[in-house]
Amino acid sequence: MLKKIDHVGILVSSIQESLKFYQDTLDLTVANMEEVEKEGVRVAFLPIGESKIELLEPLSKGVPLYHILEKRGEGIHHIAFETQSLSDCLNKISASGVLPIGGVRPGGNKKIVAFLHPKQTHGVLVELCQKGEKDLEV
Ligand code: ZN
Repeated sequence: MLKKIDHVGILVSSIQESLKFYQDTLDLTVANMEEVEKEGVRVAFLPIGESKIELLEPLSKGVPLYHILEKRGEGIHHIAFETQSLSDCLNKISASGVLPIGGVRPGGNKKIVAFLHPKQTHGVLVELCQKGEKDLEV
């Protein structure tokens, strides 16, 4: 059902600032940076082998990620698992009573994504993602 850990999402107050560590110190490279307008966030992906680090920076004070940043500070925000078929995966998971929060939506890096609440996953916000734009109706 799950193929790999696609990325680990890290919430930061400034991507530019955090790149001093992730890029300059750790020698990782930004493969792409984009704004996910619906979520009010700017994201940067830095590949490491088969996985990536996703840096997330809230674009304004009104967005949910900004409030999390205010409350908890910078740090790990979510772990993303890549799945072959997001709809199959959600069907299987929902059969055991675990439901995604907010439904399926476009994510960064040309993926479609769904999130599982930490209350259902032993304390970790889980992102399930699938490559491509198809399969949006779940
Ligand atoms: Zn993510």
